[in-house]
Amino acid sequence: RVWNFSAGPSALPVSVLEEVQRDLLNYKGTGMSVMEMSHRSKVYDSIINGAEATLRRVLKVPDNYAIIFMQGGGTGEFAASYLNLFACKSVRDKQRKLGRPLTCDYLVTGSWSKGGLKEVKRLGGTTNVVVDGVKSADSGAVSYSSLAPVSEWNLGKPEETAFVYYCENETIHGVETPSSLVVDAVDPSVPIICDMSSNMLSRPIDVKRFGAIIAGAQKNMGPAGVTLVIVRKDLLEREEPDTEAVRGVPSVLDWQYYASAGSMPHTPPTFAIYVCGLVFKWVEEMGIDALDQLREARAGLVYDMMDKHPDFYRGVVDKQYRSKMNLVFNLPTKELESKFAAEAAERNMVQLKGHRSLGGIRISLYNAMPLEGAQAFVAFMKEFYEANCQ
Ligand code: PLP
Repeated sequence: RVWNFSAGPSALPVSVLEEVQRDLLNYKGTGMSVMEMSHRSKVYDSIINGAEATLRRVLKVPDNYAIIFMQGGGTGEFAASYLNLFACKSVRDKQRKLGRPLTCDYLVTGSWSKGGLKEVKRLGGTTNVVVDGVKSADSGAVSYSSLAPVSEWNLGKPEETAFVYYCENETIHGVETPSSLVVDAVDPSVPIICDMSSNMLSRPIDVKRFGAIIAGAQKNMGPAGVTLVIVRKDLLEREEPDTEAVRGVPSVLDWQYYASAGSMPHTPPTFAIYVCGLVFKWVEEMGIDALDQLREARAGLVYDMMDKHPDFYRGVVDKQYRSKMNLVFNLPTKELESKFAAEAAERNMVQLKGHRSLGGIRISLYNAMPLEGAQAFVAFMKEFYEANCQ
């Protein structure tokens, strides 16, 4: 196998893949694959319930939070977050009291939070941009390379705000926003919705500080096709009769509908959930604190090498907000970047090119990447620098 630095779908732990391989034709003596199994069967019940229970232990998810598995990816959840919050009883009560639409506060720190904001605008929501990248002092141009200080955030008044939304790890721009900054800045009465698609399970989190956490599986959790939502149960409460409140929430995006049916109001992505369950077990065995340390160590190796040769490995993100999952940099020329990716591939290190919208180089170091992968990459960086610096 290669060292796979893809931003997603990305590498999975080898031991998980081996277990999947062993179970592929005959899952635990059932004579069939999980992918051939009815989601209404007892065996599948234990698979999905087991996955949920393991995740609950690993992230210490409190009982007043529902864990649901959905389809539609992170993108589906951009819409779902807005639609579900505006169908929620407490949000509707607050809106009625205000007498006009509540606003949705968005921290725009890169492409994915921008995508979330766009989706709400598309659905006709009233939005407020709390922060939009950082402005260059010289040109005034906005870039997603840092985070503006909290003192400059334009958070709405709590009584006028339905929720605050941010993306904790911007997979394309390589900017990671510390959750403590957001949870400390936002009034506790306002639910925080966080997209953790690309840093979920990389470290412990304090779930109770969030209204809802959304995360596509295909980076740290499992195959593409399933999306995780962890949501505080009071945000699932609807008005009685709730016909007006839920009008406009399609069933496939309805958190309450999913939560009330154990994530199975319709056919779930059965195989993907099964693999996620194995990954959750792997995380539990590794220990989430150990994965946190590993994440620091892996990213530290690469950033140290970049900082040794900053004119050659040109980091674009402010050091304070550098992502530990997706590390982006440029080389002095596009030709060198192509050469870098091609020579790395010859050494079995693949999927190094930056996102098509940005170019440059992007190295994704998710949970399944052992320290040796980062060490091999850094050894290559050194070699490449020595051969190509002027
Ligand atoms: N949010 C983040 C942070 C992402 O990285 C991505 C995709 O890479 C998405 C949302 C969108 O996810 P999906 O492609 O599953 O819709």
